[in-house]
Amino acid sequence: MPADFDTIVNLSKKRGFVFQASEIYGGLRSAYDYGPLGVELLRNVKEQWWRSMVRMRDDIVGLDSAILQSPEVWVASGHVASFSDPLVECRECNARHRVDKLKDSNKCPTCGNSGTFTEPKEFNLMFKTHMGPVESEENKVYLRPETAQGIFTNFENVRRTARMKLPFGIAQIGKSFRNEITPGQFVFRTREFEQMEMQYFCYPDTADRYFDEWVEARDAWYMDLGMTPENLRHAPHGADELAHYAAAAIDVEYRFPWGWDELEGIHNRTDFDLNAHMEHSGEDLTYFNQEANERLVPYVVETAAGATRTTFAFLIDAYTEEEVNGESRVVLKLDPRLAPVKVAVLPLSKKPDLVATTNKVADSLRDRWQIEVDVTQSIGRRYRRQDEIGTPYCVTVDFESLEDHQVTVRDRDTMAQDRIAIDNLASYLEDKLPL
Ligand code: ATP
Repeated sequence: MPADFDTIVNLSKKRGFVFQASEIYGGLRSAYDYGPLGVELLRNVKEQWWRSMVRMRDDIVGLDSAILQSPEVWVASGHVASFSDPLVECRECNARHRVDKLKDSNKCPTCGNSGTFTEPKEFNLMFKTHMGPVESEENKVYLRPETAQGIFTNFENVRRTARMKLPFGIAQIGKSFRNEITPGQFVFRTREFEQMEMQYFCYPDTADRYFDEWVEARDAWYMDLGMTPENLRHAPHGADELAHYAAAAIDVEYRFPWGWDELEGIHNRTDFDLNAHMEHSGEDLTYFNQEANERLVPYVVETAAGATRTTFAFLIDAYTEEEVNGESRVVLKLDPRLAPVKVAVLPLSKKPDLVATTNKVADSLRDRWQIEVDVTQSIGRRYRRQDEIGTPYCVTVDFESLEDHQVTVRDRDTMAQDRIAIDNLASYLEDKLPL
């Protein structure tokens, strides 16, 4: 059973995962700030993605391209002409909706009236601004709506400098902006969000094989990080749904509290983008195949995931309410690699001796993991608070610790407790908290 949407939103706000942006001014719709726990979770998700894509592979390298690019990039990519959604406005209540996302394309979900929509018109989703002090048409630039184009425009730079040979990939994590008509469902659809994209350049006749391989690899990534397999599925695009650039596409979908929705798109983009940039820039972006002694335009298989959306899905998936010895507890069963705080160090009481030892223990672990020290309230309440934010291990310093130099380590999921010598604590935890 998926967690209840309101419960997750409330937990996020209450515990400091996500706040409404500009909250003290009444909030900016569809923009969110990640609080102390949220930023750790988001960073861990991105770190795990980077690790699996870049660090663990010798055929993929990283990139961090600019948010602002030449407007020509977006002409070449097709975004200026066709990165749009069909917009209708209700004549009765003036609400605007994206037609393709409406349950009933004739009925306004805001006021309930039927037959009140204007004709659909295409609304371009790119944010526009001006570069420099003059607000003229020539100085118009766009905030990037995807990170992918920065990768295509750097294809030759990266190939040459990193001496890459086909097949190879370029990976990037960064902010993207889309002026969504109907943002919503908390951080699921926002106008500013983060993407994790990887473009895999390959010989054309191998693209189908790599497409299948990447679908499998990306599934494995979500499941390795603990996502419930039954909450993941594939939605292949039919021939009539394919984007103009794609030969094959699959959405990896997650069972959100409101239903199945996209987490990531995996596409065979063919040679569309490199061809488009060659045509518009006049630069040669072909690849020389030494063995066959011929030039060709590589095909691209891309995996395009949302970092913020995926973080939200991990949070939902980890949320668990369970009964323990007749008491209910909330526990975020996050994989330890994703958990915002890895270890909480808790003195049994506020007695200065205990607090001093607690701080010493905490300091000895800080260079490895995100640590929290909590001295307030009863130990039971502190355990519950750590369970609720997904902390895998609580280390308790009690009066005996001062004599025997041992501490109690409590496991979040099993709640089993181990007595461990302080001197062995770091190596004990190292086995349980992989990178
Ligand atoms: P949708 O159909 O939901 O608008 P899309 O198919 O246009 O999304 P892509 O262009 O494939 O999305 O983007 C890749 C990924 O980026 C998505 O799977 C999603 O995780 C993320 N993403 C896209 N738009 C948003 C958004 N407005 N807010 C948060 N994440 C987004």
